[in-house]
Amino acid sequence: MTVGAVIVHGGAGSVPEERRAAHVAGCARAVEAGLEVLRAGGSALDAAQRAVEVLEDDPLFNAGYGACLNEAGEVELDAAVMDGAGLRFGGVCAMPPVRHPIAVARALLEEGRHALLADHGADAFAVAHGFERLSADALITPAARARLEAVRAGRAESGWAGGTVGAVAWDGAHVAAATSTGGMVGKARGRIGDSPIPGAGTLAEDGVGGVSATGHGEAILRSGTGHHVVAALRAGASASDAAASAIAALHSGTGSTGGVIVLDGAGRPGRANNTETMSWAYGTSTGERDAGW
Ligand code: ASP
Repeated sequence: MTVGAVIVHGGAGSVPEERRAAHVAGCARAVEAGLEVLRAGGSALDAAQRAVEVLEDDPLFNAGYGACLNEAGEVELDAAVMDGAGLRFGGVCAMPPVRHPIAVARALLEEGRHALLADHGADAFAVAHGFERLSADALITPAARARLEAVRAGRAESGWAGGTVGAVAWDGAHVAAATSTGGMVGKARGRIGDSPIPGAGTLAEDGVGGVSATGHGEAILRSGTGHHVVAALRAGASASDAAASAIAALHSGTGSTGGVIVLDGAGRPGRANNTETMSWAYGTSTGERDAGW
């Protein structure tokens, strides 16, 4: 049997109690999908991508279908995937609606010409590579509309939406990380968060580990949360300690909040968050399972 491990998150934030079980169940389904890919002989990169696709399809999460809306009421998507083998990276940002932005990021990684594409360029790349361009409202859920209305009416603050998704996978040889989000409710048009930026929201390096972050994107960008995790792992910290120190640094440096999931270079898991909730799930091809918020 192939050795392997997958950890996912469904976003740092404060999910109300009555919805927490559903968030955890969604994360657990994504882990199973990732492990299934590994069982079938797929790579860590394939498994991380698949786990994120499952969460992009789930309207509970702020990614793909169910993504939050910017101040103009539009969906603009950020997603990235990184292969710890050769530090290969592909990211799309402020991208118009497509069913699986993470798959477009993967196609960019495979092409190898550029690391990041934004907006119209990402859209043109996607269409040229056979992805279907969706109508402007195809990914918009009633809940996403209601959240933007609440912000516009002053009943809720504009802020990060919670429900961003990420996955880190290990296939016995390689580690990969993937993150996908609609960003922040009521964000300015063209705003790009941490998720598609290597070293901020997404990072993977074979033999060291991988990380996907969630939380206040501007703060995670400034703090270099992904780099912090990988530097700590490289210095010999456990996955749990690396995760905790990155979140401590995020808080002490910026006063802000977020969370990370981590696998070290041998697939051992860690996670940390200083928000009320961060749904997550973890599994291995040898039958270990764990999940929570
Ligand atoms: N980090 C994401 C962003 O700022 C949001 C989140 O994780 O909920 O775009």
